[in-house]
Amino acid sequence: MVSRVVFGRGSFNQLGDIISPKRKNIKAPFIFLVDDVFKGNSWLTSRIPLAYNDQLLYISADEEPKTSQVDELVEQIILNHKDRPSGIIGIGGGTILDLAKAVAILLTNEGEAKNYQGWDLVKTPAIYHVGVPTISGTGAEVSRTTVLTGPQKKLGINSDYTPFDQVILDPELTKDVPKDQWFYTGMDCYIHCIESLNGTYLNAFSQSYGEKAYQLCLEIFMEDNLSVEDSQDKLMMASWHGGMSIAYSQVGVAHALSYGLSYLLGTKHGIGNCVVFDHLEEFYPDGVKLFKQMKKKHQIHLPQGLCAHLSDEEFDIMIDVALGLEPLWINAVGKNWKQVITRDKLKGLYQKM
Ligand code: NAD
Ligand code: ZN
Repeated sequence: MVSRVVFGRGSFNQLGDIISPKRKNIKAPFIFLVDDVFKGNSWLTSRIPLAYNDQLLYISADEEPKTSQVDELVEQIILNHKDRPSGIIGIGGGTILDLAKAVAILLTNEGEAKNYQGWDLVKTPAIYHVGVPTISGTGAEVSRTTVLTGPQKKLGINSDYTPFDQVILDPELTKDVPKDQWFYTGMDCYIHCIESLNGTYLNAFSQSYGEKAYQLCLEIFMEDNLSVEDSQDKLMMASWHGGMSIAYSQVGVAHALSYGLSYLLGTKHGIGNCVVFDHLEEFYPDGVKLFKQMKKKHQIHLPQGLCAHLSDEEFDIMIDVALGLEPLWINAVGKNWKQVITRDKLKGLYQKM
């Protein structure tokens, strides 16, 4: 679990007070990894509390994080600073938050990031790391994983050392998220709830978090009279609770197939989940029905024909990635999932997208 969290509009202003006791000495900098969408946005960047040798690195979120990108960042930080940093602060969406978590781990664990993709492979605690989400839905701010695309697989670094030591939840930071992106990343949260609540791994913890997040999603995406501020506040809470729900259980079919799309085509997580979920009536009939209503209400038009021109080999690559995610299938379908989830079935689903 994340050990410390503050929530509230304007709480981003507390960042300096929160991190200053964690500074080891004046030569041990804080490294701020900031989504480059905020470059030139002084409303946000003027409040980043830089001091001494602290460094601000703008990072593009156009592509999802790669293990090689983590390795390059770690090398750059080590070369630029004699002392090990006091901490890593990630400010952005799931892409930047995941990079911040991974960099914090790789600064204290030898070797390359790809060696740690999997479950509980990290042996040494990460350096102090703080997450400040600027878009809500992924739950990356609360999860014990950091999803990375490596040379062989798209898989998280799942470990007890991955979660942030501190999170600052300031819903005001999400005010300029474009509408489509708001929907895609918000639906990631909704899909987390559906997959968790309908999974075989469901338990009292995942259910209580999942039901709360699901209720919040209904209010945010289906009610008419919610103020903009209320909607931002609620989505930030929903994201947290949805993340907690899957932390105690697992995701399901939409995520398994979406990882395949992302691995082959680079389709980003939020939009990829939406594209897949739109075709999953068979697995989640009620969830998909409501999803279609939300899509209509917010006039979202998903891309069509993503897989129209793919070769058999390319379908096979996506199917291999999806089938490799065994825990997701066990959660979604049960222990005998291999009898139901055939390669042909997955190909048929991908062909619809
Ligand atoms: P993102 O970080 O990829 O950002 C999406 C877009 O929104 C980018 O263009 C970004 O610049 C922009 N953006 C972000 N904040 C903004 C703001 N305040 N104003 C204007 N634009 C803003 O989006 P995401 O959906 O949050 O993250 C997706 C990533 O999260 C994927 O890499 C996925 O693998 C990862 N993920 C991780 C976990 C986890 O548990 N670690 C869970 C789900 C997803
Ligand atoms: Zn997700």
